[in-house]
Amino acid sequence: VDRLERTCRAHGIRLTRQRRIVLEVLDAATDHPSTHEIHRRATKQHSIAVATVYRVLNSLTAAGLVRRLMLRDGKARYERAGRPLHPHLIDLGTGRIVEVDDGGLADLLAEQARRIGYRLVEYRLTLFGQRATG
Ligand SMILES: [Zn+2]
Repeated sequence: VDRLERTCRAHGIRLTRQRRIVLEVLDAATDHPSTHEIHRRATKQHSIAVATVYRVLNSLTAAGLVRRLMLRDGKARYERAGRPLHPHLIDLGTGRIVEVDDGGLADLLAEQARRIGYRLVEYRLTLFGQRATG
């Protein structure tokens, strides 16, 4: 049993061939790829339909293995959920997604959630910025 199988089991789902392909692409990613970009990367080594990638991303998101980021353009981007929670900044000039240090915000929010009897699983914060010049 390898790492991905254990991760899937811990989230109550089975590791299928298709799920492995998508998870491997996302594990290797240092950015926040879209469904089509994930499909493009996957097909460098595997045969998998874009509709399958779409379906797999939905199930992995529902199982909490993957985070979906919704941008203003309506396109979803994805990242592995195992990484520490962090806000994203969208560069309004280029559309690029930049990860922002949360300055301890996740800890503060976790504490607020704890006070009312919850464990913080996720928070979503998106900043929109313009690159300062000069
Ligand atoms: Zn991120």
